[in-house]
Amino acid sequence: MKKIELHWKIIIGMVLGLIFGFILLQFEGGKNFSNNWIKPVGTIFIKLLKLIAIPLILASLIKGISDLKDISKFKLIGLRTIIVYICTTIIAISIGLILVNIFEPGDGVSAETVSKLTDTYSESKGVQQKLSTASEQKSIGPLQFIEDVVPDNAFKAFSDNRLMLQVIFVSIFLGISMLLIGDDKSKPLKSIFDSLNDVVLKMVDLIMLTAPYAVFALLANVVVSSDDSEILMALLKYALIIVFGLIIMIAVYSILVFLFTKTNPVWFLKQISPAQLLAFSTSSSAATLPVTMDRVEKYIGVDKEVSSFVLPVGATINMDGTSLYQAVAAVFICQALAFDISFYDQLTIVLTALLASIGTAAVPGAGMVMLVIVLESIGFPADKLAIGIALIFAVDRPLDMFRTVVNITGDATVSMIVANSVGKYSKK
Ligand code: ASP
Repeated sequence: MKKIELHWKIIIGMVLGLIFGFILLQFEGGKNFSNNWIKPVGTIFIKLLKLIAIPLILASLIKGISDLKDISKFKLIGLRTIIVYICTTIIAISIGLILVNIFEPGDGVSAETVSKLTDTYSESKGVQQKLSTASEQKSIGPLQFIEDVVPDNAFKAFSDNRLMLQVIFVSIFLGISMLLIGDDKSKPLKSIFDSLNDVVLKMVDLIMLTAPYAVFALLANVVVSSDDSEILMALLKYALIIVFGLIIMIAVYSILVFLFTKTNPVWFLKQISPAQLLAFSTSSSAATLPVTMDRVEKYIGVDKEVSSFVLPVGATINMDGTSLYQAVAAVFICQALAFDISFYDQLTIVLTALLASIGTAAVPGAGMVMLVIVLESIGFPADKLAIGIALIFAVDRPLDMFRTVVNITGDATVSMIVANSVGKYSKK
């Protein structure tokens, strides 16, 4: 019998999970059953992926850098990565703004819907939590972000998944120093990291064997914990505009891949699809990172020297899907609550959404926290923030799933473009 390809197995798992979730909803106690017996399967899977993220970054980045023949190439890779990341994010925000201005989804929201959503969510724990996290973020100074990249204790950095940029910093520092002391002296350490790298990649393979079952659990749980369908329908136009924008972004990546690397975009999307499906199921670029790296290196052909830097950095700072969402959501909220915004405000959104997406953590729902900061930058009244966030809260989870797919596809695209530009891409 022909072996079913991994992405098909994952898709089958997802569809069955959705169906199972709907079946559970028909039973009283179905939600409880899911919480007790289904949800843990998905949670364990995400934990396993996160478990190997830091060893993987450490091993592959150190291997990548210490394999480089000269450091100047690394500078080139770093600079190009940042420039292309910023460009794709600006494209994403612009697409979002154009769509939300053309279709004006917020203007069609009735006062009745606004008050219903406000009553349901503005005092809810979820919304209040987002607001308080946002105000914590806001009190941080402008250079704090750079300061935070440098750890004062390497082991502390390795012990917290949220400190990914610190892990990247330590790995680059170590890798470059290994290059500088020369092959002879760095050889023993290099062999350790090379071997660790192979072991961790095997762990990714093993974890991926369980992916179809895990996505079943994750999606069943999304269905049972979703809000009632009437509320979801009220936000349908808004949600569809975001999804439409995200699809355009995938088309943009396809064009970029074709133009810059002469690779067939359909082939590219097929190779990256298991990572996309996991991004969809987990809503976390950080949890998906090991799989994104695996696909980009083994199946697409980007050299580790590039991918080991571009992808972890991208997972933390490059979020095109999130920034598109933030642009649409900010303008949607203003439209729905009749808060006038000028062209200048929209330009402010481009800038703050760019910075916000850089500062957004690669975990579920983080994009919404930074949305608060985007809204504040255009003078949105502080006392209405809870209402604004309440408006879009119900559809945040499904939209998070879609935008995370775009986030990781963007990272993969940029890694190919940068790798190709320094002669480190050879199509598999
Ligand atoms: N869940 C997204 C990610 O991990 C971030 C967000 O938009 O909330 O990429």
